[in-house]
Amino acid sequence: MTTRPRPSFPARLDSSASSSRGVKKHTATETALQSPLLRHVARPVVQSLGMDSQAVRQNMVSKLAADGIADARVLVAMGTIERHRFVDTALVNQAYEDTSLPIGLGQTISKPGVVSRMAELLLNGRADKLGRVLEIGTGCGYQAAILSLLATEVYSIERLRGLHDKARENLRTLRLPNVHLLFGDGMAGFSKGAPYAAIIAAAGGEAVPQAWIDQLAVGGRLVAPVMSGERAKQALMVIDKTPGGLRQMVLETVHFVPLKSGIA
Ligand code: SAH
Repeated sequence: MTTRPRPSFPARLDSSASSSRGVKKHTATETALQSPLLRHVARPVVQSLGMDSQAVRQNMVSKLAADGIADARVLVAMGTIERHRFVDTALVNQAYEDTSLPIGLGQTISKPGVVSRMAELLLNGRADKLGRVLEIGTGCGYQAAILSLLATEVYSIERLRGLHDKARENLRTLRLPNVHLLFGDGMAGFSKGAPYAAIIAAAGGEAVPQAWIDQLAVGGRLVAPVMSGERAKQALMVIDKTPGGLRQMVLETVHFVPLKSGIA
């Protein structure tokens, strides 16, 4: 038994977590307490996992905030889900660095900076949580766990059986009843869960498959890495489906594993 004082959860973020982008100045703690979702979900998750990595995770969260992630709900989620549980034992000491890491079968767990950026783009400053979300590319399940704290339902699809099984194992102890793991080719989306309030891809293709656009709700937002023209670089693409049609933005360069067809 250790007698060390336990850090409180969620740790209070310093004022750098508040935004220069016009978001009201409040701490992640305050937001967490206001949110019925986080009141009911975040605490049991943390209680069931132990607190040893809390300080190092809060350090990561402070860095994300300093790098411009302003949505307090995203910062709370990043501080809640224990990323070290999603990587191999040999990589645990790198789990809270802003780096992608191998998860087997040639795939990687996305960088915390990119996961939080994409989650913030999906939320798009809205006050309420997201409805149904589709994630293409479950990998080890980390981003699905983050999304589970920000959305009512998360459907996450993976084309590699080995990783689908690994994600199931990783997520088992977290007991997130709103995460639905699917094995299949995400190129076709998952029509049974459609329409989605948000669609997020963790693998980059030449273009956004039409099925994803079709399965996006009107008022919904899709965020995906897509090859952008010259020099074959990937960029983050945001597509909003408005009553008046599709609105598209191409943002910063990113580096995701390729989106592939079929299952394996
Ligand atoms: N979301 C993960 C990132 C996993 S890497 C995280 O939390 O870090 C991207 C994943 O996309 C890989 O596991 C890869 O196998 C998967 N993928 C690639 N093409 C796919 C497709 N068509 N359907 C489903 N998954 C796909």
